[in-house]
Amino acid sequence: MTTEQPKYGPGIELPPGLRLISFDIDGTLEVGDPPGEIPLAAVHRAHELGFVVGSCSDRTVSTQKMMWEQHGVPMQFTVLKQQLPLVKERFDAEYYVHIGDTDVDAWMAKDAGFDFLHVLEDRLWQFLKGHDIHHHQA
Ligand SMILES: [Mg+2]
Repeated sequence: MTTEQPKYGPGIELPPGLRLISFDIDGTLEVGDPPGEIPLAAVHRAHELGFVVGSCSDRTVSTQKMMWEQHGVPMQFTVLKQQLPLVKERFDAEYYVHIGDTDVDAWMAKDAGFDFLHVLEDRLWQFLKGHDIHHHQA
């Protein structure tokens, strides 16, 4: 019998090379409707650390772009949910993860070959803390 290990988290290395994070907006980021738990500071920090960051939402691409321009967030891609595979084609990264709050997010991520982290799971906060992106105040 084997014990299942989480794929990543504090002390667990991601593959070397380019890493990419796709953020859902509504229910995931603080500027979403409803607001999610992840502050924009975490998005900025991930960008500073060299992660490719972008948004993947049901909102139109133009709405997303306008939103990031207004908030001064350096998103490197803005796509619709079903366009996640295009992100994988556009960026040659070693690791891809989508962060969201619904089963649709999980399904789209899996379908596109991304890892998935749910905003309500401890795994997400372990991931963000472990990679010095965000230290969650419980
Ligand atoms: Mg959402």
